[in-house]
Amino acid sequence: MSTRFRSVKGTRDLLPPETAVWNAVEACARRVFESYGYGEVRTPLLEDTGLFERGVGESSDIVGKEMYSFEDRKGRRVSLRPESTAAVGRAFIQHNLQELPPPVRLFYIGPHFRYERPQKGRYRQFHQIGAELLGDPGPHSDAEVILMLVEFLRQLEFRDLAVLVNTVGDEESRASFRAALVAYLEPHRERLGEDSRRRLETNPLRILDTKDPAERELLEAAPTLADHLSPASREHFDQVLAILERFEVPFEVAPRLVRGLDYYTKTVFEIVSKGLGSHDAVVGAGRYDGLIAELGGPPVEGIGFAIGQDRLIDVLPESFLAAVAGEPPVMLIPIGEEARVEGLAMAEALRAEGVAVVAELSGRSMRAALKQANRRGVRYVALVGEEEIASGELTLRDLESGEQETLSAAQAARRLKEQR
Ligand code: AMP
Repeated sequence: MSTRFRSVKGTRDLLPPETAVWNAVEACARRVFESYGYGEVRTPLLEDTGLFERGVGESSDIVGKEMYSFEDRKGRRVSLRPESTAAVGRAFIQHNLQELPPPVRLFYIGPHFRYERPQKGRYRQFHQIGAELLGDPGPHSDAEVILMLVEFLRQLEFRDLAVLVNTVGDEESRASFRAALVAYLEPHRERLGEDSRRRLETNPLRILDTKDPAERELLEAAPTLADHLSPASREHFDQVLAILERFEVPFEVAPRLVRGLDYYTKTVFEIVSKGLGSHDAVVGAGRYDGLIAELGGPPVEGIGFAIGQDRLIDVLPESFLAAVAGEPPVMLIPIGEEARVEGLAMAEALRAEGVAVVAELSGRSMRAALKQANRRGVRYVALVGEEEIASGELTLRDLESGEQETLSAAQAARRLKEQR
């Protein structure tokens, strides 16, 4: 017996009608982002492994244990992209985009890969919708990016949105806070789990992300970054908050919000909504002023977000889903042999009038075709038989009411528009 292949663990097929939802979400992202002056960037799925080691950080979980990395046939170290900010940074540098009038606004949509334990909402191939604003250090950029993200989610009909926002400070603030945090945790080393003990050396700020209850308790009394903010970082953060207030964006300062990736500086944020739930983050966002220089480029600041599209789609409001589902197409049913071709011509004529049509092609009986129409959830069928061919018309039947009428393609299109 031959092997029946299945999709690789942690990856999945997206099929209709679900793909219509994916397309609608992507179309909404494009529309909203373009209205803020963003252009789409498409970077390769495959990058030099060193890019992520440098850009995301070797001590991060992503680089340490989640990347799909391999050597190609010539021994080059390559990885499937686990995120896109480093890749967008690489493209920015490679194409000298700092020569464009700043800031440069880019968005991306596409698959990413992390070798994580698959579970609901977590895949090995997952999808992100993200945006990056490069080349402006000021708080107005942070505010605009947040406003754009909120606008996108509102257009997806999320309600009760709130922005959780924090600052992780600039390099100076982080160095001072890091030292204070290590000094506080060091004497309690034995109360930390294995991961956190390791992070004490490699990346102490990440310990703040812990879900372990005992560690969380210990952290209650830990120093906070707020106490170590440089005056410049504090000023930046205050201005971001003032702009959010001006635009009446509901926000909350979340002092313990830190992001898992190494490159963040100053503003970091997340979005919560009743619909979005709190268990799994849907958006990762923040400023990364040092990244482009770290990747060997000019000292260009950046801020951006990445939305987990799979999780976003899991929690989409019913109202958005209903609007996407729309109306099923009209089904064209030919009656008799001659109508099998003439029926196709009528289907084309309806499409030219803007009506979506599925044509019955197999020559099955009208009874069998109507059964099919019911199974497909079709409401209107267009019947074409000898008489219709002679008059150049079709008979439009409403399967719900049983009423029918013989009309031209243009009249049928108008009738459908009125009734829907
Ligand atoms: P990050 O780049 O880690 O900040 O992730 C940004 C967003 O991508 C997260 O908030 C998730 O919604 C989504 N995401 C990250 N990893 C996965 C995964 N393995 N499966 C599904 N979504 C993911």
